[in-house]
Amino acid sequence: MAPDRLPTIFVSHGAPSLPLEPGVAAREFLAGLGMQYPDITAILCISAHWNTQKPSVNAVMHPATIHDFSGFPSELYDMQYPAPGSPDLAQQVAGLIAAEGIPCDTDTRRGFDHGAWVPLMLMYPDARFPVVQLSIQGHLDPARHLALGNAIAPLRTRGVLVIGSGGAVHPLGDPAVALGEGMPTDAWAVAFNDWLNHAVTDGDRDNLVHYRERAPSAVHAQPYPDHFMPLFVALGAAGPAAQGTIIHQSWYWGNLGMGAYEFR
Ligand code: ZN
Repeated sequence: MAPDRLPTIFVSHGAPSLPLEPGVAAREFLAGLGMQYPDITAILCISAHWNTQKPSVNAVMHPATIHDFSGFPSELYDMQYPAPGSPDLAQQVAGLIAAEGIPCDTDTRRGFDHGAWVPLMLMYPDARFPVVQLSIQGHLDPARHLALGNAIAPLRTRGVLVIGSGGAVHPLGDPAVALGEGMPTDAWAVAFNDWLNHAVTDGDRDNLVHYRERAPSAVHAQPYPDHFMPLFVALGAAGPAAQGTIIHQSWYWGNLGMGAYEFR
């Protein structure tokens, strides 16, 4: 039986190859995370890799596994995440969002991108729970993603685990930032991550929404902040008084911050 009110979570999904890397700290964390939330009925995942103009939910009975990356080992392209979809849950999500005056599209074809299936494959390898995805929006506006999360807050009382999947420190695309196996973690990345940890555990929405002006090195840590938006949706979905708990910290490829949070 689902608890009265589930928390929401934000996870950093790292590179698509994470499932193939036993021993990597973030992988081992995700592999144990599903056990923390066994009594759920379904999952709503907000992935950084589905970016649309308007919020969209996928209403698909059997969503395909999308291999939306290139240059990785061939076995990664054979991986499938066979969780069912839930057109019924998708309609509920779209209804909640529309009820807050936010136009929401329903997509009857979209499958699971790697921002969703990589962490879910580790969390729930038996794919027993139906999964629906909700997109982020190209405006990358924190306040509007927080509002999107607020709209779906009632899902927590319906046994639906809301998972934001992005990157706590995600400097991809910044030519000044070196990334790769065995690389060191730079001081600016640590400073941004420390700031984020404090803002999350304080439940400080005002600081978080204004992270671009207030957090140290925000332009390096989130140069194109698509991977930061799922955090705002997860925070909003946890309700206006929610506070965050740090549930994971590690670094990957030097400057990819793999932090994860639970909001309740
Ligand atoms: Zn990603």
